[in-house]
Amino acid sequence: MIIQPKTRGFICTTAHPAGCAKQIEKQIEFVKAQKKFKGPTNVLVIGSSTGYGLASRIAAAFGAGANTIGVFFDRAAEGQRTATAGWYNSAAFEQQAAQQGLKSFSIVGDAFSEHIKAKTIDLIKAELGTVDLVIYSVASPRRTHPVTGETFSSVIKPIGAAYTNKTLNFHSGEVSLTSIEPAIDEEVRQTIAVMGGEDWGMWMQELSAAGALTKDATTVAYSYIGPEITHPIYRDGTIGKAKNDLEQTAIKLNNLLQPTGGRAFVSVNKALVTQSSSAIPVVPLYISALYKVMKEKGLHENCIEQMYRLFSEHLYSEDVAGVDGSCLIRIDDWEMREDVQTEVMKRWEELNTDNASTLSDLAGYRQDFFQLFGFHMDGVDYEADTEPEVDILNRV
Ligand code: NAD
Repeated sequence: MIIQPKTRGFICTTAHPAGCAKQIEKQIEFVKAQKKFKGPTNVLVIGSSTGYGLASRIAAAFGAGANTIGVFFDRAAEGQRTATAGWYNSAAFEQQAAQQGLKSFSIVGDAFSEHIKAKTIDLIKAELGTVDLVIYSVASPRRTHPVTGETFSSVIKPIGAAYTNKTLNFHSGEVSLTSIEPAIDEEVRQTIAVMGGEDWGMWMQELSAAGALTKDATTVAYSYIGPEITHPIYRDGTIGKAKNDLEQTAIKLNNLLQPTGGRAFVSVNKALVTQSSSAIPVVPLYISALYKVMKEKGLHENCIEQMYRLFSEHLYSEDVAGVDGSCLIRIDDWEMREDVQTEVMKRWEELNTDNASTLSDLAGYRQDFFQLFGFHMDGVDYEADTEPEVDILNRV
């Protein structure tokens, strides 16, 4: 069939297998062109099919020659419905890993469930023995608790007072004001239950108890801080409370792992266009302005560039620079540079519908958004008849 993008708000309901494969190829090419680093040997990536988790998997496999297991929640194609981008990304990743002679396995299912944790642990023990790096990069709107059965929903809302600021409709280019009412306590509790650290903690406890971790295993989860204008909706809002909980979990996990030489970190990453970030109000306009300024200053990085820097300059460098006492690694350092933020804030004041495509990188935002789903990639024939059903090699 001919596969075209079909968007509904900030989601695209179709994905292109050849375009997704091209994306993977590009990320692998980038990593291969960099200096190799002595990194991890066997890696588990939870949330490995898109965004930061996918880039982590690529950096570990193609930058350090690591064997990887990826866990993700994606859908195969069915009839006229394409698979999700994460499915096609993972299929392309598995193919490339096999060509490279790397051991690689994919588990499709709900990472929050006991069943998937047990299945992953069995696979590690059978195929890799142990893992020495666990990346936790799940971003989800919902979680069903594996013990109580309660289903939680996460919301992105301010806390205490309503928040009003500019937002961008990146399809039409319209900049308008949006107001978001504050969350009630129950929404805060549920958001922490979905996006906080409990599930990461459960994974690490179970992996450790099963003897599936090396003694000196490292684990990393991802967070975001960002500038003051987004604090009411992000860092001081419901999602920020969940990120505080994630950071507290890193401290607890450090206590679990450190006695035998292991380490737990939260890496604070740069704001980038991913399926998750495009759902947050205000943030897409901030990202567009940020892209423009960082590109002008030659500082722009995408997911793979961020993850390569995390691995080669922080996690696996001689001295783990950038880590303060609180288990945080800051690879948002370039985003948060004073000159970058001063310029973004200056533009923020002026941004409106008429100047959005000149003061901000609206075109770059749109391109990144469509590329998440395998569209707008150079070298892909979008008029070609394309088979939507694609198998994932080594899917367990
Ligand atoms: P993403 O939406 O691109 O990726 C989320 C991944 O989680 C996908 O692989 C998806 O399959 C997987 N997933 C979702 N629910 C799952 C489930 N129940 N079981 C198994 N897998 C599941 O998101 P992203 O933007 O890469 O975010 C990853 C992490 O990085 C999050 O913690 C996010 O807060 C953080 N982060 C993102 C940004 C940003 O700007 N995008 C910046 C800093 C930090």
